[in-house]
Amino acid sequence: MAEAATGATAWRSRARAFADREIRPVAAAIDRDDRIPDGMLAALARERFVGLGIPGRWDGAGGDVRATAAVLEELARASAAVAVTLSVHLAVCARPILDHGSDAQRERYLRPLARGERIGAFALTEPGAGSDAAHIATRYRRDDGDFVLRGTKMFTSNAVSAGTILLFATHDPALEGRGISAFIVAPGTPGFSVSQRLDKLGLRGSETTELVLDEVRLPGDALLGSEGSGLRIALGALAGGRVGIASCALGVAEAAFETLRDAVRDDPVDWKRIRLARAFAELSGARALVALAAERADAGASSVPDASVAKLVASRAAVSIASAGVEIAGPSGARADAPAGRLYRDARVFPIVEGTTEIQELILGRALAGPPDEPNDN
Ligand SMILES: Cc1cc2nc3c(=O)[nH]c(=O)nc-3n(C[C@H](O)[C@H](O)[C@H](O)COP(=O)(O)OP(=O)(O)OC[C@H]3O[C@@H](n4cnc5c(N)ncnc54)[C@H](O)[C@@H]3O)c2cc1C
Repeated sequence: MAEAATGATAWRSRARAFADREIRPVAAAIDRDDRIPDGMLAALARERFVGLGIPGRWDGAGGDVRATAAVLEELARASAAVAVTLSVHLAVCARPILDHGSDAQRERYLRPLARGERIGAFALTEPGAGSDAAHIATRYRRDDGDFVLRGTKMFTSNAVSAGTILLFATHDPALEGRGISAFIVAPGTPGFSVSQRLDKLGLRGSETTELVLDEVRLPGDALLGSEGSGLRIALGALAGGRVGIASCALGVAEAAFETLRDAVRDDPVDWKRIRLARAFAELSGARALVALAAERADAGASSVPDASVAKLVASRAAVSIASAGVEIAGPSGARADAPAGRLYRDARVFPIVEGTTEIQELILGRALAGPPDEPNDN
């Protein structure tokens, strides 16, 4: 295992070197083959990226929000699929177990996540509930000290190979958010199955699946936090992870900008220079907002809107710059294997994941104009 880096700058350098060495050479294959190569998780573990933000006591690598943001940005510049896989693992699986788990749960579930022996997943979305997370339909009931779960989860990243899934179910849908609890599920549990792997527009190497839970029996200690606190845990994890997903979008925006700049240098006519300048302004705005959100989070001064505005602006910048890249590349940009096309397809997914653009706008609008957040939206 590599020695721990300290400080965001050291983590960034390490991630940049890793991306050049291990990811960039296989980035096109990840997209084409729709999978991250075997061994990538182990390689991320050797660099200790899988333990970022987790204290050494639980075998984590430590590191603040700026360090995690820097690593995700650098990885995303090479492959958005790899960066998002790591971001989900850290922010919406490992982190909530750290924050809400008992020491016994941290020992059993967090330690293997921090070492990279397992990859973490987060299963909230369902076929009938995405943004409106309070209305999930996956049910649980108590049975002799156990919990028994039944339902379907949709768009779960990392769940095929995951060792640990943080999954949300309701005791009674009529209770809306107050009925939801969080459970830690291992994919091998009887009754649990991956019913389909989704073929996506972008982030193709990141595994996204539909899960079926058919009378999945979990022991009492699979409950994370208290009964009824699941929606709060889910929304807290998503809010905390938003700087990370914004950093992934920023990395894609940077890669798209570099591709665009190369194309404009080859043919520096004025309309292309103007588009390049516009892209530079979009990228600069995104970079500043992501840095500010991470800095405020580290200073303990963050508010939900900091990360929301960073995610909103960074994902818009990624889509806009990548779209300009396709436009300027001309017909070759439309080829499935063209870098500009891949960046565009990857970028287009960021306004959807971990809270859509409209949901970020809703969060911001509520914060700016009141009434206070009604914590029901993903
Ligand atoms: C690649 C990928 C990976 C994902 N990984 C995961 C994962 O690991 N775990 C997980 O749980 N989920 C995951 N998701 C699901 C993702 O979080 C949801 O797609 C997202 O929350 C939106 O939910 P939805 O798709 O049901 O769309 P809907 O909520 O139905 O939204 C459809 C449209 O309506 C808009 N809309 C909805 N409500 C409002 C409102 N109140 N006001 C204004 N506009 C609104 C939305 O912005 C969107 O444009 C993933 C999705 C993708 C694409």
